[in-house]
Order: sequence, then C-alpha cells, then structure tokens
Amino acid sequence: MKIVALEAHDVRFPTSRELDGSDAMNPDPDYSAAYVVLRTDDGLEGHGFCFTIGRGNDVCVAAIEAHAPLVVGTDLDLGDLGGFARRLVHDSQLRWLGPEKGAVHMAAAAVVNAAFDLAGRAAGLPVWRLLAEMSPEQIVDLADWRYLTDVLTPARALEILQDAKTGRAERTEKLLATGYPAYTTTPGWLGYSDEKLVRLAREAVADGFTQIKLKVGANLDDDIRRMRLAREAVGPDIRIAVDANQRWDVGPAIEWTKALAPYGVYWIEEPTSPDDVLGHAAVRRAVAPVKVATGEHIANRVMVKQMLQAGALDVLQIDACRVAGVTENVANLLLAAAHGVPVCPHAGGVGLCEAVQHISMFDYVAVSGTADDRVIEYVDHLHEHFTDPVRIVNGRYAAPTAPGMSTEMRAASLAAHAFPDGEVWRS
Ligand SMILES: [Mg+2]
Repeated sequence: MKIVALEAHDVRFPTSRELDGSDAMNPDPDYSAAYVVLRTDDGLEGHGFCFTIGRGNDVCVAAIEAHAPLVVGTDLDLGDLGGFARRLVHDSQLRWLGPEKGAVHMAAAAVVNAAFDLAGRAAGLPVWRLLAEMSPEQIVDLADWRYLTDVLTPARALEILQDAKTGRAERTEKLLATGYPAYTTTPGWLGYSDEKLVRLAREAVADGFTQIKLKVGANLDDDIRRMRLAREAVGPDIRIAVDANQRWDVGPAIEWTKALAPYGVYWIEEPTSPDDVLGHAAVRRAVAPVKVATGEHIANRVMVKQMLQAGALDVLQIDACRVAGVTENVANLLLAAAHGVPVCPHAGGVGLCEAVQHISMFDYVAVSGTADDRVIEYVDHLHEHFTDPVRIVNGRYAAPTAPGMSTEMRAASLAAHAFPDGEVWRS
C-alpha cells in the first residue's frame, strides 16, 4: 500500500485552568498533542501523536510536517516497520536537528506510532498483540541497533526473546483475563489542596490501586506534610512514589529524598536532569533502598543504554511518544530486560496511557515475560477524547482488543480543541 497523505494537527486542552498536571517544574501545563494521520491508497488510516504541554506544540506539528516528503508517496511495507522508522530517524538533513532528540525525534515518534496504528488496523489486531505474535527475529529487526552493540547485540536480544517464547500463549490469556497493573498519579498534583490529596488517595485505594504517586520538589515542609497525609490516608501497604520532575541538583535530590524516606518512599522519579547519567547514579547510591526512576525525558535508546551501564536507575520509565515510537521502545525494552530492570512507563498527559499500554503488554507477553514490580502510570484525564480509551478495572489496565494502537482521537475533539481556532480556545 502507498501512503497518500500525512495530515498534522495542533490540538490543545486547557488543563492549566484546573491545575491538573501541575508539578514543581510544570506549574500550568495545557496538555497538547501534535497529532498526525497517515492515509493509504487502500483507505486505511493510522493515527499517532507526540505529547507537549502547550507552547511549542506548533514546533512539533511543523516537525511532523517536515517528515511528509519521506513518507507521502512511498510504499508502506508492513513487514518492515523497523526499516520505515530507520528511514525517518536516519534522514541526513532532519537528523541535524537532533540527532535523535527534541522536537524532530518526537515528531518521528508520532509518525512511527501512526504507522503501527495503521499496521494493527490492517492486521485486525491491537498493537500489543501484533508485536507479541511476531517471531523473535522480526522483533529484533524492529530495533535500531546502531550505537547499542557494545552493550547489547542483536544475537543476545534474540536469546532473550527466544527464552520468552515459552509461555507467550498463557500470558496472553492471563493479560486478556486480568489486565496489566497500573498506578495512579491523580491524587498527587502539586496544585491540589491537602483535602483533595487525602480524598483522592483514599479513592485510589478503594478503586484497587496498590501504588500512588505524589509530585514533590517545590517546598520541603509542604512535601513532608503531604507525604505524611498521603501515608496516613493509604496505610502502610500501598506504595507511594514521589516525582520531582527534574527540580533538583544532585545534592538537594539526595537530602530531600532522605527527608521523605521515613514515610515510605517507593521511588524517587526524575530527581535531577534527565541527561545527568552520573548524577542519577550518585543519587541512586545515596538514597537506596529508595529506588530511582526516570525515563519520560530520556531522549533515546543511547541514553537508556548509558543509564543502565552506569547503574543509574532501578526503574525505567519509557514514554510512548518521546523516543522514536514503538521501534525505539522495543530497543529500550530489550535493554531493560538484558539488565533485569523493570519498565514502568510514564503516561498521563493526553493519550499517553492509550499508547504506552501496548508497549507494556507486549513486554509482558514476549520480552520480559513478567509483570512483577511493573506498573503503568495512570491519570484519569482526557480519555474521553479517544475512540478506544483505556479501561481501568480494579487498578489494572484492561487489555485493548480493538485493532490499532488506541491513538485515534475523536473527530469532534480534534475540531473543538484545534489551536488556536477551535471553539474551546475561541471562548
Ligand atoms: Mg514524572
């Protein structure tokens, strides 16, 4: 099939009006998607996006449109989506803008994920299942091995995938029956009052979640009080993670985490700059047994490799739309599996839960083969704008069954939230 059109849309939601999504570094986000639709000559569509928090979403839209000459008019070989992704990421002129980081890489994520959404629709399968039914050789071929082979070779990756082949069918059945574990960040936004925090933390436990997360990093006394209130609200058996969203230097990260640790911190997330591999390693050494989690701003698989090489993290938080989509996340899953590090994806925003659930479910069935100590972030915002929204049942993501990657936004939502001319922004 031939790709005949690439359409890009600037879609923004005025979430800053309610302080949903507020944290120490991002006090007033307007959750936004640089959204892309690929159309083929046989009538199929693929939908993808990258996520931003408002200003600059237009930059990502322009970066998506810059990929059009590489895509429109070309044949899409659904058996070689790794090659499709590599062609985008390796483009010698676009590559200058990264390489493999920033707006141009996020744009590649949107286009690559749209191609996977399309492939899932063509096969009549949700993308997690499309991936999980591939042979180990096909999965290895999705990844871009450039810059990885000093740490992980395709041959070693193949062994990991062949080991995980045993039990794929049982895990698929189990996933369809019971879903994949989730945790919720809904109670913990920094802009919420103590009363709202306590009420939402209690509701999370009642809803079946076994882990919640609080945003921290603006004021230590406030964080200690909020951590104490949250612990009192959920009891001793619920995991509480905290997320500093890159607020600190290494020294304060260690001091702050140690001050919160007596209330039972499961992980400290993004304690410092996402580029500071050795800084994360220093924090990790100092705050153990509190775990260090990061990844939502890790630009690419090379940084994931270094984080793992340096022993800089306990939990890898892949993001569906920051690295170059499904294919680069296949590499990230394999790197994590080779190091025995659990992957607990970043999600929330708009559509990130919908997209990333497919990656984790594929990981469970065909890569790591386990969901132990693995959870996908969940935030209960903006799902109503998607045609196949995530379903949370008893604190777990129900496995999607509709074909595609759950990344299609409703046409009415696209129109109403178009920036700056949609009705939501005109009013
Ligand atoms: Mg975070």
